[in-house]
Amino acid sequence: MDTSEIRRRFVAHFEAAGHTAVPSASVLANDPNLLFVPAGMVPFKPYFLGQETPPYERAVSVQKCVRTPDIDDVGKTTRHGTFFEMCGNFSFGDYFKERAIELAWDLVTKPQADGGWGFPEDKLYPSVYVDDAEAVALWKKVTGLPDERIARLGKSENYWSMGVPGPGGPCSEILIDRGPAYGADGDFSAEDRYLEFWNLVFMQDELSAVRSKEDFDIAGSLPKKNIDTGMGLERVAFMTQGVENMYEIDVMFPVIERAMELTGKRYGADPVDDVRFRVVADHVRSSMMLIGDGVTPGNEGRGYVLRRLLRRAVRSVRLLGFGDPALPELMPVSRDKMAETYTDLVREWDRIARVAFAEEDAFRRTLQAGTQIFDLAAGEVKQSGGATLSGERAFALHDTYGFPIDLTLEMAAEQGLAVDEAGFRGLMAEQRERAKADARAKKGGHADTGVYRTVLDEHGPTEWLAYETLETESR
Ligand code: ATP
Ligand code: MG
Ligand code: MG
Ligand code: MG
Repeated sequence: MDTSEIRRRFVAHFEAAGHTAVPSASVLANDPNLLFVPAGMVPFKPYFLGQETPPYERAVSVQKCVRTPDIDDVGKTTRHGTFFEMCGNFSFGDYFKERAIELAWDLVTKPQADGGWGFPEDKLYPSVYVDDAEAVALWKKVTGLPDERIARLGKSENYWSMGVPGPGGPCSEILIDRGPAYGADGDFSAEDRYLEFWNLVFMQDELSAVRSKEDFDIAGSLPKKNIDTGMGLERVAFMTQGVENMYEIDVMFPVIERAMELTGKRYGADPVDDVRFRVVADHVRSSMMLIGDGVTPGNEGRGYVLRRLLRRAVRSVRLLGFGDPALPELMPVSRDKMAETYTDLVREWDRIARVAFAEEDAFRRTLQAGTQIFDLAAGEVKQSGGATLSGERAFALHDTYGFPIDLTLEMAAEQGLAVDEAGFRGLMAEQRERAKADARAKKGGHADTGVYRTVLDEHGPTEWLAYETLETESR
């Protein structure tokens, strides 16, 4: 089942159950505290907060999402993209837990021939918030599963809030067991084995204080209870397409294939290279989608996120062995796949290409300038009989020329040199502390108007370090 079919079926399933289909909003959140939309509920937030009256009681959407805090997991886990699409159904004071569970379970277990995902029941594990006895009872009633198949998880996993007083509630997630190749039996912390693909949030509580994800006060029940769910399109796609991970699905793998042609390397031959291939597939796509929605590269905020994604994509292809401009070869492949759904990518292509390719050119010049400095430094170390590039040198390359440490490490290794990585990290930490102090000073009396759970998303001119912002990472 290709992703467009999954998307279509999801929407059709919920439309048939009386939901209004709402198109994806821009991935740029219309919210002072969010850089990007990290979840499908964000465009509906005014309804959940009771600030606006929804024109419908039930909605279904497939929302473009970006989660920058997941960047370090990309390519290493089987399931994290910086960009992904979240399929969601929403009830604004209409149906609640039981119907939400029924609707989800029906779609997940219905045979593919009848329009569902056809996931085998004996591989599925609902999880509930440990204190949500009502959910346990409902899962048993709806699915007929025995008690031991229902995982009880704690607050950090299965309690949702926005990090501030306001609505909150327990979640139930649906996990699918991918077998012992991905972790031990019954170990739900092996998240690539017990793959979470759908989160059902039961918005029922009124929180009076939220000190952390695990520490909050429930003041009472919400007068109107809501449902907010999010199902990862790519996760369902890689399950139903029988591939190993989200980077190998129909709309992403062609970029890896093109990268193989360019680099002459084979995906699947070397674990380190494989991560690079996956990073390329993800970052080419996410940067294209960001530019499509109007972001341009810059030194702070959204622009810096985009810059970092583009540079990481370019560098990863370089490390795979292709030194020429790569984005003109790779981004059109991603466009052709994504434009099946997001047709404006075609209309906007000239602009997208201009922005992306100019950034690659600028980064190539950075690399060129920095490479000379690197070679000089490496020459000096060798001449003086040393074998280690100092932390100061690595830091200067990073700070002045934007040289990522792994590039410095790789280039040093090519010259038979080590790098004082601990020294480098120490200097980075010092800089980070300085940047945080600056950011705190700048932020001053920043009001937290209607914020989500706050998460430190570090970024800045040479790392994501110099700038603090508020962003949800996960719920
Ligand atoms: P995980 O624990 O795997 O990081 P999560 O608990 O952070 O996921 P939720 O916040 O519950 O994810 O989001 C709802 C759904 O969105 C998830 O169940 C998953 O299917 C999907 N999802 C979340 N983050 C990503 C991501 N970075 N890439 C792809 N899909 C994602
Ligand atoms: Mg999770
Ligand atoms: Mg989750
Ligand atoms: Mg997460």
